Amino acid sequence: MTKYQKIIPIADQIIKKYYLCDNCLGRLFSKKLHLSSNKLLGRKLKKNLKSSQKCFICKNLFDRLDNFLKLMYDASSGYHYSSFSVGAMIKPSIIDRDDYIRSKYRLRGIDSIKTDITKELGKSFSRKTKKSIDHLDPEITFTLNLKDELCQLRSKPVTFSGRYVKMLRGLAQKQKPCENCFGKGCRICNFHGISEFNSVEGLISKFLFEKLGGTIAKFTWIGGEDKLSLVSGSGRPFFVKIQNPLKRNLRLTDTQLDSIQIINLKITDKSPRKPVKFISIIEAKIFTESEVDAKNLKKLKDLRNHPIVVYDKSGKRLEKKVFSIKYKKNQENIFTLVIKVDGGIPIKRFVTGDNVSPSLSGVLNTQCMCTEFDFLEIEVK
Ligand SMILES: [Zn+2]
Ligand SMILES: [Zn+2]
Repeated sequence: MTKYQKIIPIADQIIKKYYLCDNCLGRLFSKKLHLSSNKLLGRKLKKNLKSSQKCFICKNLFDRLDNFLKLMYDASSGYHYSSFSVGAMIKPSIIDRDDYIRSKYRLRGIDSIKTDITKELGKSFSRKTKKSIDHLDPEITFTLNLKDELCQLRSKPVTFSGRYVKMLRGLAQKQKPCENCFGKGCRICNFHGISEFNSVEGLISKFLFEKLGGTIAKFTWIGGEDKLSLVSGSGRPFFVKIQNPLKRNLRLTDTQLDSIQIINLKITDKSPRKPVKFISIIEAKIFTESEVDAKNLKKLKDLRNHPIVVYDKSGKRLEKKVFSIKYKKNQENIFTLVIKVDGGIPIKRFVTGDNVSPSLSGVLNTQCMCTEFDFLEIEVK
């Protein structure tokens, strides 16, 4: 007796008591027979039995496949993507009846109705759209609510790395969050979490939203600067993750946005998980309370010999190394400092000596002040 012949009596027995649609009946046996089409197997097992009854398990859910597919087309219009996956929420009563039949007839190792319907939807959708199914890392994830005929779509975030050069003073690095939602995204801010675009963050976000769509842009900055600071050289590195993008790629890598220049913008795997170590070359204009002479200034070179101890706002102790230091006296009590130092040093506090030691004020033995400082280069370690 073939495997197929063996299952006929069981199938007959089930169908007599519980009328099932082709898909559900076929599903109960297709794995055992290594067949891929539940529907064809079901039809064969039913021997063209026609009935006006509804499927005991699914109440003819499979007749509505086209409706579900339409929901998927509608939800995904406007999105550019190459891979997708489908999930479904099914009425609990359907799942209960599926479990009931499977346990009553001791049918093991078969697909659940949920697996079957998402497989069917995936196959049909892939055939029609030429997009590939990817269960592990899809660009688009559909979640169908089969009961209420709703389709949710999630588009995988896309992350870029790049650098920015800031050519004009007065532009803050970070954007204030939307006052209505505090950055979570709401109708007022168009789900961006920010409603103004007058900062480095704002300018880059606006540019990416225009190019790619998307909701929130999440930034990871490699250091920061004052509103009044310039950033030159090869620029400050940053990472930005765009959530829910419509498009997933950008052709251009360099662009000018108002007073900032974006360099080497490209797709990257992920934003870094751990803080990125970097070194900054900073130029600062220093005012001293009393006049400093060349001999005095020379002492600044000693800063290379010991780490600078910094206490951050939470009281945490950090050490920053000075790699090189140069200075040029401009006037009696003004000099220009160029320092190459571990990234993240609070430069103004380092100058005044506020919870930073040694400090410029300490070394020069006169109160120093810094009103303006610029970044000449930022090197990632
Ligand atoms: Zn069914
Ligand atoms: Zn908002």
